[in-house]
Amino acid sequence: MRIEVDRDTCEGIGMCESMAHRFFEVDDDEVMHVLDANPAEADRKEVAAAVASCPVQALSLVD
Ligand code: SF4
Repeated sequence: MRIEVDRDTCEGIGMCESMAHRFFEVDDDEVMHVLDANPAEADRKEVAAAVASCPVQALSLVD
């Protein structure tokens, strides 16, 4: 499982961080960093919820 980010679409809003702070972090310049791009299977539910929460659909989860 891999987290992919469409950098042209991401607006640094930070919903992903609030849903799954172990995997996403927005810095002071509103740039989002993926902290772990390859989550364990056990974390799928948390990561999938964060991906779904992005208001501009910048995130996807690839198996
Ligand atoms: S919720 Fe979407 S727009 Fe906001 S920081 Fe995360 S990926 Fe970017």
